[in-house]
Amino acid sequence: MEMPVKKITFIGAGNMASAIFKGMLAQGYPPEAITATAREADHLDNLRQTLQIHVSGDNAVAVADADVIVLAVKPQVMQAVCREIADQVCQTRPLIISVAAGLQAETLNAWLGGGHAVIRCMPNTPSLVGAGASGLYALPGVLPAQREFADQLLSRVGLTEWVEQEALLDVVTAISGSGPAYFFMIFEMMEKAAVELGMPAAEARRLILQTGLGAVRMAQETGEEPAQLKRNVMSPNGTTERAIHTFEQEGMEVMFLKAMQACADRAAEMA
Ligand code: NAD
Repeated sequence: MEMPVKKITFIGAGNMASAIFKGMLAQGYPPEAITATAREADHLDNLRQTLQIHVSGDNAVAVADADVIVLAVKPQVMQAVCREIADQVCQTRPLIISVAAGLQAETLNAWLGGGHAVIRCMPNTPSLVGAGASGLYALPGVLPAQREFADQLLSRVGLTEWVEQEALLDVVTAISGSGPAYFFMIFEMMEKAAVELGMPAAEARRLILQTGLGAVRMAQETGEEPAQLKRNVMSPNGTTERAIHTFEQEGMEVMFLKAMQACADRAAEMA
C-alpha cells in the first residue's frame, strides 16, 4: 500500500535509522520529506549527497516542522536528546516512534514533556538487509492512522507484529530481537561439528546457510506446523531421528526455554 507522505525526522541516522529510510526511499518515498540528524558532520554530508535527504546537526531545528519523529539514538543518550526537542514537540505534537531497546513508551513520553502519541518498536538486525521482524506497541491515545503509518514505516524493513501490552515487547526481544543470534549460534555449532566430521568449513557453511534458508521457506510457504515438518524428515529408525532424539535427550527444549526466559527477564530489567 502507498504510504501517505509526511515529514519525518530521524534523530540518530545510524544503522537502524538508515535501514528504515533507505527502505522508504527504495520504495519511492520522496527524499525531501525526510530529515536525518547525527553527530558526525561528514556522515550527514554523505547522506545528503547520496540520498538527497535533508540533514541537520541540530535536533531541535530538525524536528521543527516534522509530522513524525523517529527516535533512533542509543538508549544512553536518549534522555539528553528528548530534553533538546521537548519544547518544540510540545508545541507541534508529532507522532513519536522509538526504536530504542529497553526504554518504555511512558518514560519517553515523560522525557518529552507528556501527552504525546508514542509508539515503541523493537526491531532486529536483519532489518539492515530488509528482512527484519519488529514488535510494535502504541500508548493508549495513539490514533489508528498513526499506528497504520508506523506499521507502513517499519514494513519497509521487514515484518511487523503489534502487541497490546508493552511487557510483551520483552518476549519479542527474546524471540526476534535476540533471535538472530540464536540462529547464528546454531550455524556456528553446525559448522564446527561438520569440520569435526571431516568437511572443509567453507563447503559446510554454504550447505548450512542454504539449509537454514530452505527450512524457513518450507515453513513459510507450506504453512505446516514446524513439528509436522520435522516429523516429515524423520523416517523411523533413520538418520534424522537419531539426531533429533540426541537433541531431546540432551535437553535442548529446556535449554531454549531457559535461555529465552533469561533474555526476556533481562529486557524487563533494562526497561
Ligand atoms: P548507531 O550507533 O549506528 O547510530 C546511532 C546514531 O545516533 C549515530 O549516527 C550517531 O551519530 C547518532 N547520535 C548520537 N548522539 C546523537 C545526538 N545527541 N543527536 C543526534 N544523533 C545522535 O546505532 P544503531 O545500531 O542504529 O541503534 C540505534 C537505536 O536502535 C538504539 O536505540 C538501539 O537500541 C536500536 N536498535 C538497534 C538495532 C540494530 O540492529 N542496530 C536493533 C534493535 C534496536
